[in-house]
Amino acid sequence: MNWGNRDTTGRRILILGGTTEARELAGLLVKAGYAVTTSLAGRTDTPRFPEGVVRMGGFGGREGLAEYLKSNRIEMVVDATHPFAAQISANAVAAAADAKVRLIRLERPAWKKPEGAIWLEVGSTLDAVHALPRGARVLLTVGRQDLGQFLAQTNVEFVARMIEVPAGLPTDWTVIAARGPFTLEGETELMEEHGITHLVTKNSGGAQVAAKLAAATQLSIPIIVIRRPRLPRAETVDSVAWAQEAIARIFRTG
Ligand code: NAP
Repeated sequence: MNWGNRDTTGRRILILGGTTEARELAGLLVKAGYAVTTSLAGRTDTPRFPEGVVRMGGFGGREGLAEYLKSNRIEMVVDATHPFAAQISANAVAAAADAKVRLIRLERPAWKKPEGAIWLEVGSTLDAVHALPRGARVLLTVGRQDLGQFLAQTNVEFVARMIEVPAGLPTDWTVIAARGPFTLEGETELMEEHGITHLVTKNSGGAQVAAKLAAATQLSIPIIVIRRPRLPRAETVDSVAWAQEAIARIFRTG
């Protein structure tokens, strides 16, 4: 084994991004001398750009991504997309296999039920819609892409919080544009101010937006949690530090 001997400077890494972790990892890898490109889907109008090269927009499915990997001589793919971005994660596993490129997935740990929480796990967004009782006043924190299925639910009041507000939301919704991190104090105040009776969230995980769970627990507000989608198997690490370590190990040992 050639542990620790091989120079990793300039090794070509593609990070599939769109998360805080992807941005942090890009910064660390650039500093360590890797040639890093981060790919963003281009969904938000005001993305926060990582260090290194950034490309935007879809690849054109599995084939397009495999072609990109080959033509850009990518040596490793890091899938650091959001845990609910299931399509790109599936494409990444398949395309990396097609192009014979190593892939690791960086996936932050899922949230667990806080002690004392009223916690209902559901398998899909539609199940979350159906779990809401008539007359509920709901803090909806599922992101703007997943609001569609809640629009038909007219016997419930919504306070929807998201980073960027799309046009055309119902006028009787309360819409809040905000980007984490959020504090326990702030989340408690928000829930009290709006008389929230239910919280709906994806199980996104991570510390940045976890305060809502503690606030809802303290206020005895039921939390409806949408389970993560299943992803194809891949070598997975659960933190930026472990990702950096795994990348260095793989390049050094081949
Ligand atoms: P998705 O459903 O898994 O992907 C749909 C398509 O969007 C993919 O097939 C791919 O198009 C393109 N795409 C997705 N991520 C991409 C990336 N990083 N670079 C280039 N193309 C990408 O993804 P999604 O749920 O719409 O999420 C889109 C992006 O937003 C992801 O990067 C994700 O990390 C971020 N995000 C998602 C959520 C969420 O809740 N889903 C939350 C926060 C951030 P082609 O097939 O044409 O390649």
